[in-house]
Amino acid sequence: MTDLLSSPGTPVIVTGAGSGIGRACARALAEVGRPVAVWDLDGEGAAATARSIQDDFGQTALARAVDVRATAELDGAVAEARRGLGPIGGLVHAAGVSGSCPIDELTEEAWDFVLDVNLRAFPLLVRALLGDLRATAGAAVVGIGSIASFLGYEHMVPYTASKSGMMGVTRSLALTLAGDGVRVNMVCPGNIDTPMLNARATATPERRAAFERHTPLGRLGRPEDIASAARFLLSDQASYVTGTYLLVDGGIIAQGGAPRVG
Ligand code: NAD
Repeated sequence: MTDLLSSPGTPVIVTGAGSGIGRACARALAEVGRPVAVWDLDGEGAAATARSIQDDFGQTALARAVDVRATAELDGAVAEARRGLGPIGGLVHAAGVSGSCPIDELTEEAWDFVLDVNLRAFPLLVRALLGDLRATAGAAVVGIGSIASFLGYEHMVPYTASKSGMMGVTRSLALTLAGDGVRVNMVCPGNIDTPMLNARATATPERRAAFERHTPLGRLGRPEDIASAARFLLSDQASYVTGTYLLVDGGIIAQGGAPRVG
């Protein structure tokens, strides 16, 4: 597919690419000719994504099991991606964990688990990529935030902290790297039909129907809805966009947030 949205040939690393939104991002980028490094804690999931890219688009995709919490290992993983694909000009940080945790039971471990994956890894991934990003024309970074970047969620203090924290990281990184020509933005999804959502929020048909009913556009989002927004923000079509976010939520924030379900 020829696509004006792509920065042709510029390799991108996608974290969390073994499932859901990350997988859709890796596939959407590969579809327009961008080589992708497909990273996930789940190495088998990452390998399956890479195989699907090879089969469907005939594109290079390098799968690797990467735990984004192991920040000391990120330089090595980036070096391997660079050896395989060339200098890396883009990042999508889609690796994420959720989970509710009553405040009475909050532990340091539960806090660190969510914050380390969703938030701490984000700037440290960018740090590991700095040399490549600065050297690549049109380099760009996208973090996958959430409507939880704007809204509070009962019993989800670590998750909402991580997602609103990503907003601050995005703004500060954007200013820090603007002079280097590196753009930094977020896509903030609403309720997207992935294993993460289905494990909890939409675990029964009734709850799923309630989520659909409470969404102005009347359906859950698809991972591809998020991927096309991320692909746009990584592309030269977004060359004047930095330090901001694109909400892809079916209208939930416009109606003032998602009503309580269940
Ligand atoms: P998902 O569970 O399908 O995918 C998340 C992926 O991240 C998994 O493959 C998992 O193995 C990987 N991962 C988890 N910990 C990791 C680690 N330490 N290192 C590397 N990879 C790790 O979930 P998803 O819905 O695709 O979520 C992707 C992102 O989108 C997350 O940041 C999530 O918070 C965000 N998001 C999702 C929704 C939704 O409704 N699904 C809404 C808003 C935001």
